[in-house]
Amino acid sequence: MFEWTEEQQAISSSMRRFAQHELRWRARQLDASPPGTVDWAFLRKSCDVGLLSAQLPPHYDGTMDRLSAALAAEELARWEAGITTLLASHSLALTSVALSGNITLMERVFPEVLAAEARHEPLLWALALTERRAGSDLLHPVGVPDGRMMMTATRREAGYVLSGRKAYCAGGNVATWLSVFATVSQDRSLEGLTGFVLPTNTPGFHVSEILQTLGLRACPLVEFYLDNVYVPNEHCLTPEGGATALVHALSAYERCQAAAIAVGIARGAFELARQHALIRVQGGSPLVQHQMVQAMLADMATHIEAARLLTHKAAATEPPDVVLSSMAKVFASDMAVKVATDAVQIMGAYGTTSKAGAEKYFRDAKMMQIVAGTNEICRLAMTAPLLPYAGLGVMGSD
Ligand SMILES: Cc1cc2nc3c(=O)[nH]c(=O)nc-3n(C[C@H](O)[C@H](O)[C@H](O)COP(=O)(O)OP(=O)(O)OC[C@H]3O[C@@H](n4cnc5c(N)ncnc54)[C@H](O)[C@@H]3O)c2cc1C
Repeated sequence: MFEWTEEQQAISSSMRRFAQHELRWRARQLDASPPGTVDWAFLRKSCDVGLLSAQLPPHYDGTMDRLSAALAAEELARWEAGITTLLASHSLALTSVALSGNITLMERVFPEVLAAEARHEPLLWALALTERRAGSDLLHPVGVPDGRMMMTATRREAGYVLSGRKAYCAGGNVATWLSVFATVSQDRSLEGLTGFVLPTNTPGFHVSEILQTLGLRACPLVEFYLDNVYVPNEHCLTPEGGATALVHALSAYERCQAAAIAVGIARGAFELARQHALIRVQGGSPLVQHQMVQAMLADMATHIEAARLLTHKAAATEPPDVVLSSMAKVFASDMAVKVATDAVQIMGAYGTTSKAGAEKYFRDAKMMQIVAGTNEICRLAMTAPLLPYAGLGVMGSD
């Protein structure tokens, strides 16, 4: 069994204090802000505590390992999961650079993130893989033979020209840099999947739509297109056709973070329901004294604890394990939906109103079953190792 280090405990406590001071009071206004907007004041505060650079590799002054990042995500999402998702997407895009092994690129972009953070000017990254016609196919664990991608990369002197559209890109309208995936195959097949980075002030980058979403509203979700955007060779994340392995590696990072965010959402919903059950009197006594309500609270608390343990196990496992991370993400997000649903139930009609806050957790929780690979695709990732009868690697399996 793993244990938290002193450093991880300190990160968890400081993030808890930071979230209570800076996110608690902002949560409702973040949820109500117009689509596409981000809270720059909060992001500047995040610079103070190093959140924009936290997940850089340690020798580029990153301060959080994967378990610390999960602890931080839970604390932030306990109050506001949308902006937590935006920060997680930013860190994931930086991780794509770290995993690329492109030292020249790292030397160029990581110090820029740190310097901007030191100036209290958040410099955001975003990652663009999904397209309108290519969603789950891009994350399918064993690949989809006839999978196609519309964004193309065509070889030009000393670089590539990228053209096409991307969908559901978190923070794509506010990011300064993008990690973006395109195919070099003439037939647009996924065999040609290749990774690039580009600054969003490159001529030819256009945001085409800002989407209104069910939940996680503090995280802008946008569509954009690239119109003959030139990317020099130095900005390649992978060799031609080499991005599938990178995408799968990133899934293990992303799903752990998503699991931690889901645990945070569930914790917030549970806390609201618990408080309500203590003060609301019906049937002659506070709700908390009714056995059926007690049973609901007991199950909620148990499921949160179980999801947290699985999330921490996945986050503490090195190298990152996509099966374990997928398990954590599925378990935690399904749990968050159930806990948030029960929180609304315990709060009755009041729970359905925006005043109560439980419905926000309910909307945010639902999003977590889709983000980072839908739970169906995550389940396929869990069963993929079974196909060659390799075993799932869980305790008790041969
Ligand atoms: C809040 C949020 C943030 C996001 N951020 C980003 C981002 O920053 N960058 C980015 O690139 N993408 C991002 N996405 C997109 C996300 O990765 C996709 O939504 C996800 O991969 C699913 O693709 P899709 O939405 O097109 O669903 P589809 O692929 O159309 O799936 C629809 C349904 O069919 C099921 N399904 C599909 N294929 C199979 C199959 N083979 N077997 C069984 N069931 C299947 C799915 O599970 C789902 O229930 C984000 C999404 C959300 C909700």
